[in-house]
Amino acid sequence: MSRLLEGLQQQMAALDAQALRRRRQIAETPCAPAQVLTRPGGAAPRELLAFSSNDYLGLAAHPAIAAALAEGAARYGAGSGGSHLILGHSRAHAQLEERLAEWMAPHIPEAQSLFFCTGYMANLAVLSALGGAEAVIFSEALNHASLIDGARLARARVVVYPHCDLQALEAQLAASDAPVKLIVSDAVFSMDGRIAPVAELLALAERHDAWLVLDDAHGFGVLGATGRGVVEALGLRAERLVLIGTLGKAAGVAGAFVAAHRTVIDYLVQRARPYIFTTAAPPAIAHALLTSLTLIEGEEGVHRRALLRARIAEFRAGVQAVLPADGRARLADSSVAIQPLIVGENARAMQLMAQLDALGLHVGAIRPPTVPVGTARLRIALSAAHTADEVARLVEALGQALSTEASA
Ligand code: PMP
Repeated sequence: MSRLLEGLQQQMAALDAQALRRRRQIAETPCAPAQVLTRPGGAAPRELLAFSSNDYLGLAAHPAIAAALAEGAARYGAGSGGSHLILGHSRAHAQLEERLAEWMAPHIPEAQSLFFCTGYMANLAVLSALGGAEAVIFSEALNHASLIDGARLARARVVVYPHCDLQALEAQLAASDAPVKLIVSDAVFSMDGRIAPVAELLALAERHDAWLVLDDAHGFGVLGATGRGVVEALGLRAERLVLIGTLGKAAGVAGAFVAAHRTVIDYLVQRARPYIFTTAAPPAIAHALLTSLTLIEGEEGVHRRALLRARIAEFRAGVQAVLPADGRARLADSSVAIQPLIVGENARAMQLMAQLDALGLHVGAIRPPTVPVGTARLRIALSAAHTADEVARLVEALGQALSTEASA
């Protein structure tokens, strides 16, 4: 056997030994709480109640958005045909960018926006383009992988600051005389549900002539009266802000946007390689997103955000009552849709996930390297599409799984 294959097989065996091997299930049905899933290995498809999607508002299978996608395909065809700078930039992309710029205008002076195929690419683009050799990137320790990878791609020096430690960050900023300083943080930590101290980060940016690159993947659509995300929820407005929002989570479709001062956006169009050297997303996606934004900011969005808040409150109240007294499972301090139950060992998270699966529930187990070693967790994700009864079923199943585990 070739050395490459042998090496790969050894690494896979090591993953198995640490309960770290990841397996994909196949979703046979649209994204919704009740999903038919097929496991690898030839098992028959099963219906499970899922608490694992990022479809926080339940828009992924919304008929009006699906109809807009079909309408967009009828109007613009299937593919964009090229990159944005050659011929792939369609009217639909332009409309979406204008709309998102208007959305963010109250929060960023002279705001413009740029649409990307994915949030991962948007983060690579922003950090690699703005983080030149003269820059220093101050990167929050629990940042999403796409921000970490963006920082790796950048020529800038990277300094990691401890999770939400404003004092440490301030000391690092004060010690730096770099002409360009970028503070980079998730707005809502994707595996904890904690909201970053965004107002304080912006204040530090002002004080130290730095910029804040803020990834609001999990706040966009969900936070704020009209769903504009963390900047709306906190009433923020700043020129030194480069905001990334993803459109495949609460917005229910795919893609992402960067909103920033128009000079920043103009520069990204010239220099951001993950924007320039890729085929533009199908225009129909952008067209569907226009409908998604209308739903998010309108009455339906207000209603769905209220439903989500109700489910979060029910879940948190219910689960406290079933957690083991010995503290072996800890509910993260989160007010958003992401409600992690931290259990420690990888194998334990996998076992709890299997127990829930046997009870007909699908909840993701998150292990290192996605989270720090020793903090494996069930990442429970709630959605406006869940009913109160479904949340009650989850609480009951968790209670059952945790108590059988304790007595085993
Ligand atoms: N940022 C954060 C914080 C995320 O959680 C994710 C996706 N999990 C991304 C960026 C990447 O977004 P996308 O899925 O659109 O590539």
